[in-house]
Amino acid sequence: MPVHRSVGPPPPHDPISRSEPEFVLAGRMLANGTLRSMEIGIGPDGEIVRLAKSISGARRHDVGEAVILPSATDLHVHFRDPGGPKDLENFESGTLQSALGGVGLVGDMPNTDPPVTDPDRLESKAARARGHLAVGAFLYAAASTPEGVRRLSRHAAAFKLYLSPTTGIRWVTPEPDLGTLLGAVAATGLALSVHAESPGRFAADPTHAPDNPAEWNRARPDRSELEAIERLLSVGPPGLRLHVAHVTLPGSVERVRAAGVSSEATPQHLLLSARSNGGSREKVNPPLRLEAERSGLWEAFRSGSIPILASDHAPHLLEEKDKPFYLAPSGMPGVETMLPLMLEQVHAGQLDLGTLVRAACDRPARWVGVPCGRIAPGHRANLVVVDFRRRQRVEARHLHAPCGWTAFEGRHAIFPIEHYRDGNPIVQGGEFVGDYRASLLRPEYAEGGPPSTRSA
Ligand SMILES: [Zn+2]
Repeated sequence: MPVHRSVGPPPPHDPISRSEPEFVLAGRMLANGTLRSMEIGIGPDGEIVRLAKSISGARRHDVGEAVILPSATDLHVHFRDPGGPKDLENFESGTLQSALGGVGLVGDMPNTDPPVTDPDRLESKAARARGHLAVGAFLYAAASTPEGVRRLSRHAAAFKLYLSPTTGIRWVTPEPDLGTLLGAVAATGLALSVHAESPGRFAADPTHAPDNPAEWNRARPDRSELEAIERLLSVGPPGLRLHVAHVTLPGSVERVRAAGVSSEATPQHLLLSARSNGGSREKVNPPLRLEAERSGLWEAFRSGSIPILASDHAPHLLEEKDKPFYLAPSGMPGVETMLPLMLEQVHAGQLDLGTLVRAACDRPARWVGVPCGRIAPGHRANLVVVDFRRRQRVEARHLHAPCGWTAFEGRHAIFPIEHYRDGNPIVQGGEFVGDYRASLLRPEYAEGGPPSTRSA
């Protein structure tokens, strides 16, 4: 089998290797909206070289009635490396969970400690990641100043902007400077993911600290998200590759769609609503919304109106989360459960498998510019195998997050039984059998400038 190239840049197309699969994976897969038995021929460099009813002459593995999907790409994780609390998370633990959850490529956010605001910090973070990645990864840089953005443009894979303070990011771009900052990002040609909440709209009641998710929703209300999105759309220059992270409201979806802007939704905002008897494990930013908004968001997702699914995996130690609600940090782990929870929705007839694959696999991979979100010749053989008969209950003790808890405890989920990285098994029988030599996309391209973004 090939050396572990993972989701690096696409190799030059060699017509000989293209025609000679070294390994064949057979099973059912989606073709024109229906599941059909097909065979995937994988070349020695980990690329899909053929797709046919039957392929002979190579080592083969047949998964029978199980379903083969492209592995997912998660544009939004926080692996807390460097600077997170000891034993909370790092690149190895985070990408291990990714592998077991069927996520083959992750984008790590820049609000680490120190935050990624200059090329030196990005390079030292990259050095921590290399050799510790079970799946492919790329690193965001924080868009903090126009000068910082210019200096990072040859190093970062994408930018992240916070319109409200968050873990590790205590500054907010002043109103008059936002247009200049967005202009600097647009000039780099890189994508910008934005945490869109306007702190000016947060409700401040000095007599009462929020004590549950329903009160958290009132403290950071709908209008703070809607106003932040309006502000972005009004000052964002033409040519800016804008992406709104974790939209929580049907109104936000409509607005960004009308503007032709990309967005993502998380399983927590799609599946959990803000309850007055909920605890701080359900404290996230932006908040979980009330049931009416949640079900509206779900309808938007299942109808395909929200282009991308992302986890916003943001673990915290239990001792932090178990503080009184108003003192507990916001965020929850989720990269291992994102795809399994949604596969359960497919099983339950609530979500079309094709819609899920487009949102979890195809579109986010295209957003990054990596050919790994489709089962098609020319794409990386980053694949997961799912048996829809193997439903399980989510239990924190069976998950791999060092924080040891999940807000989805007890819900049904369907975890992948196999996961292939460039045609090599990294999960078999639901157990990790891989290594930590997956590649980091960018900044290895820093010297030669950014790779051309392939529209895969
Ligand atoms: Zn986040």
